[in-house]
Amino acid sequence: MTDEPIHTPLLMLDRVARRYVQGEATVDVLVDASGVIEAGEVVALIAPSGTGKSTLLHVAGLLERPDSGEVWFEGRPTVGLSDAERTAMRRNEVGFVYQFHHLLPEFSALENVVMPQLIRGLTSSEAKSRAKDLLSYLGLGARLQHRPSELSGGEQQRVAIARAVANAPKLLLADEPTGNLDPTTSAHVFSTLIALARASGLAAIVATHNLELAGTLDRRITLRDGVLVDA
Ligand code: ADP
Ligand code: MG
Repeated sequence: MTDEPIHTPLLMLDRVARRYVQGEATVDVLVDASGVIEAGEVVALIAPSGTGKSTLLHVAGLLERPDSGEVWFEGRPTVGLSDAERTAMRRNEVGFVYQFHHLLPEFSALENVVMPQLIRGLTSSEAKSRAKDLLSYLGLGARLQHRPSELSGGEQQRVAIARAVANAPKLLLADEPTGNLDPTTSAHVFSTLIALARASGLAAIVATHNLELAGTLDRRITLRDGVLVDA
């Protein structure tokens, strides 16, 4: 007999439900969604618009509480945690990238990546050093002082990726991160994101409509009537 090692997935959704009520209408977005993301696993979330991809990422990333079910992060149930505890956990463990970069327009690329680290409590020199390393890794070493408006769409998204991983999260949640880019730029930004995830052992869920890019990831999942299934 061999002893099974104790195994704790990075993220586990257990029968998660999430509905939105608007006036008379109720939209059941997530109905009974369960699934596991292992540490370091990079998974594509492919599903048509309006099926609940963003909702799923918000619940997985502790931005929204499910109406029922549980979200386990590193073996810890998170639904019953206080807002402050959930915020702290999210800040330390989760990075988000959206379709639109949401960078602060008045600040340079470097400052945009420094900022979340200062909020977390790093010193300015530590934060700058990491920001420079990350931006250089992402091919933006010559763009540190540029503001978002002085960067191309692909460059803006790469800054947003650097910002998302600035605090060395364990989980990256990317919501159609290349949905706003032309195909060539999209492929470049996508592969850069995946290379960074691989290099740093990050787990990621990447919502995308690009089946070709999704095909390069470890696994593909989809949402069918509010349930998470293999794609
Ligand atoms: P996707 O990201 O796959 O396009 P979403 O998760 O954004 O899907 O939305 C799923 C469904 O939930 C849609 O019908 C959307 O209109 C609805 N929805 C999302 N967020 C809200 C909200 N805050 N209030 C009301 N309805 C919402
Ligand atoms: Mg969406």
